[in-house]
Amino acid sequence: MVTQLDEKIVLLKEQVKKLQSQKDSLIKELDRIEEKFENQDRLYRKYLPLIIDALAAGDTHFSKVCCDLGAALKKGASFVKISYIFEKLKTAMIKEGIGPVEPKRKKGIFASIMKSSTNNFIEDFKVSYHGILDNLRSILDNRYATRMDNIAHKISSVADTGDITDIRESMFSLIFSYISETSQDREKVNSFVQDIVGKILDIEAKVFISHDQTTSLLSSNLGFDTLLNTELTDLQKTSDVASSLDDLKFQITERLRSIEKALNKKQLQDKEIQAAAEKSRNVFRSGFARLKQKLEKATKYSEKLEKKLNQDQLTGSFNRRAYDKKISEEMERFLRYGTIFSLLLIDADNFKKVNDRYGHSIGDRCLKEIIKRSIPLLGKNDMLARYGGEEFAVIMPETDSGGAKKAAEKVRKTIEKIEFLYKNEKVKVTVSIGITQTQEGDTDHLQIFERADIAVYKAKENGRNQVVVH
Ligand code: GH3
Ligand code: MG
Ligand code: MG
Repeated sequence: MVTQLDEKIVLLKEQVKKLQSQKDSLIKELDRIEEKFENQDRLYRKYLPLIIDALAAGDTHFSKVCCDLGAALKKGASFVKISYIFEKLKTAMIKEGIGPVEPKRKKGIFASIMKSSTNNFIEDFKVSYHGILDNLRSILDNRYATRMDNIAHKISSVADTGDITDIRESMFSLIFSYISETSQDREKVNSFVQDIVGKILDIEAKVFISHDQTTSLLSSNLGFDTLLNTELTDLQKTSDVASSLDDLKFQITERLRSIEKALNKKQLQDKEIQAAAEKSRNVFRSGFARLKQKLEKATKYSEKLEKKLNQDQLTGSFNRRAYDKKISEEMERFLRYGTIFSLLLIDADNFKKVNDRYGHSIGDRCLKEIIKRSIPLLGKNDMLARYGGEEFAVIMPETDSGGAKKAAEKVRKTIEKIEFLYKNEKVKVTVSIGITQTQEGDTDHLQIFERADIAVYKAKENGRNQVVVH
């Protein structure tokens, strides 16, 4: 017979058993939760720093905080420390307008960085190229206005980096035309062209290449970013719905594998992109080297052309064209700043007779000799030009008629002493020189020439081989 006590003991035993099994399942449940936690923790500690590293490439405050966060996560810093850094990150993001701070932006951080980088580049490009064009406008005359307007229009409507080559080509072709067509002072043209080309090189080398690289890197990051985001969201969902630990384990392993694959692929892509960027940079460099070479050739050719245009064929001295240009410049300086100058007109005496008696070729030799002997007697800023026939002009900047007279006397005396031998006969040539300096009321260089011409006439009248100051 079962006693009351026995019954109680059985009941108690059953209760203990029940409690034991409840305890077991509770511990099991706890274990499961702990493992789930550990898995998640491990995952975040492993992959978050990687994502952060990818973001931290840059020198904004945001990037720096990202670096700190990455380091803290790798080190397994305390929750308090990490929360603190997260706060800093949020402030930086709001300050710098980065990332998904506004709820509307769903594209992710990389997308917004890329967009701003492209926009910045295009804006930089437009501003710099408009700057160059303004520079060109201040130098190039009206003939080029339409072409410059067209280029300006092209620059304004640039939408992506593909349009840039076209603009560069148009600009170069404009500069080429200018070099070969202009009659401006070559030295100025050359330094101006060098300056412009230097600027174009600068803009494109700095902005274009760096942009190329960032764009490709960021676009690869964008793909990676999306993939990682979906994987992590899925992971979150998985751990929420997974019914058993095994199922959870399986799902997590799958996701991790997929993330790892994406990481490897991204690393490979980055390498490829870097190689491609390097290659395009080299192609770009050599293209520019060729353009520069062409430009230098064109510049040299135009220098030669210019020299020829200003040179007298017979004597090698400057010609009438060079004289016209120089005297206009000096006149402009005189009118603007009151800087005086003197003009000498040198006319060979009785030269018709020289020709008649000894022949034209001896006459030519005399003219060459007059130039050759006179030039060393002049100052380095003075310009001697063959004005026409047997007449020469000397422009003496910042020289009054007194100084001009001294130089003229030296020239006259030197020429007087020259003796050519013609069939044992001594050939002698003399010159008459008329001088004038700028005077108050002069408004045109022709007035000055007229005075010098009158002075020459007086010298002839007084018996030739002499210097007369007007
Ligand atoms: P004046 O003393 O009054 O200046 O007499 P001129 O004979 O020098 O002046 P004119 O103007 O009557 O004649 C200038 C001469 O210079 C005529 C021409 O035969 C000569 N002549 C001009 N150009 C050249 C040239 O290039 N070579 C040679 N050999 N003679 C030239
Ligand atoms: Mg004459
Ligand atoms: Mg003469």
